[in-house]
Amino acid sequence: MSATQHILAPRPEPSLVSLVIPIYNEEAVIPLLLDRLAELIAHAPFSLEVVFVNDGSSDHSLHLLHQAAQRTSNFRVLALARNFGHQIAATAGLDAARGEAVILMDADLQDPPEIVPEMVRVYREGYDVVAARRITREGESAFKRFTAWLFYRTMRALIYKDLPPDVGDFRLLSRRFLDALGRMRETHRFLRGMTSWLGFPQTTVPFVRALRAAGETKYPLAKMLRFAWTAAISFSPLPLRLSFSIGWILLGFGICYTFYALVEMALGMPLVRGWMSLVVVNCLGSGAIMVAIGVLGEYVGRIFEESKGRPLYIVADEYALPSPDRQASPSQVL
Ligand code: UDP
Ligand code: MG
Repeated sequence: MSATQHILAPRPEPSLVSLVIPIYNEEAVIPLLLDRLAELIAHAPFSLEVVFVNDGSSDHSLHLLHQAAQRTSNFRVLALARNFGHQIAATAGLDAARGEAVILMDADLQDPPEIVPEMVRVYREGYDVVAARRITREGESAFKRFTAWLFYRTMRALIYKDLPPDVGDFRLLSRRFLDALGRMRETHRFLRGMTSWLGFPQTTVPFVRALRAAGETKYPLAKMLRFAWTAAISFSPLPLRLSFSIGWILLGFGICYTFYALVEMALGMPLVRGWMSLVVVNCLGSGAIMVAIGVLGEYVGRIFEESKGRPLYIVADEYALPSPDRQASPSQVL
C-alpha cells in the first residue's frame, strides 16, 4: 500500500500543550495520576494544561478533580451532564482543549505521561498525528491480548487499510488536525478510524503499555464488542454487502437442491426422503434473512440517530482557576 506523501515542516516548541483525560469512576487512580502529571508539568519544556472530562462518574472522581482544579491553574475540569461513553467524552475534551498540540490519554496510567515530551519532539518534526504504539502489554490477560490482536487485524484487512496496529487512542494531534476532526460530528464515533480517514502526516512512537495503576477496567467484554461493532459499521457498508453475498450463496444452494429434487422425482424415488433437507434449507434461508434484516436495522437505526442532529454531549459545569496567560493561547493567534 502506498502512503500519501507530505512535506514535513519543522515546528518550534509549542507554547501550550493540552492533555485530554476522560474520567469515568477513576477515584482509585486519580491521586496517582495527579502526582505523575505534577511531575510532568514541573519538568516539561513547554507549558501544559490538563483537561479532565468527567464522564458522569458515580464515585468521588469529580470531587477529587474539582479540588485539584482549585489548587493548580494547569488543571481544568469539564463535567458532562451524564455518562456519554469514552469516545464522546474524549471528543468533548478535544473540543475544549486550547493547546497548539493536544494529547488524548487514559486516566489509568496505562498510557504513561512520561512519553509526552517524546511525542511533542516528533510533532515538532512536522507530524500532525503522533500515536503511541504499544510494543508490549504488561500483565494483560491472554484473552484481552488475543481480542485486541484480532480486532486490529480484522479492521485492517476489511475496512481501515491504514489503521496502524497496536495503537489505541493515546495520541498527539496538531491544531490543524483537530480543526478538521472538529468538523466530523457523527454520533457513533470511532476516533481511530476517523483519524485514519483524515490523513495528514501521521506516525507512531513505541511505548510499553503498563498495567492499570488502580481500579477496574471500564471496558468489560460486552462494551468492547459494541465498540468493535461501531468500528466495523460506522465507516463501511461491508457488513451490508456481506449479508447480500450470503443471501446469494444460499439462493444458489436452493437452486441446486431444486434440481437435485427434480432429478430424484424423475427417477421415481420416494419424495418424502427429502423432508429433512427441506427443513435444513428452510432454517438456513430464514436465518440468513433474519441476519440480513438485522444488519439493515443497525444501519437504519444509526441513520435515525444521526438524523436527530443532537449535540454529541452536554457539559453541565466547568471548573478552573482564572488564569491570565490563557487568553494569550497561541491557538487563537494561528
Ligand atoms: N472512560 C470514560 N467513559 C466510559 C468508559 C471509560 O470516560 O464510559 C474512560 C476511563 O476512565 C479511562 C479511559 O476511558 O480513562 C479508558 O478506559 P479503561 O482504562 O477502563 O479501558 P481499557 O484500557 O481497559 O480498554
Ligand atoms: Mg485502561
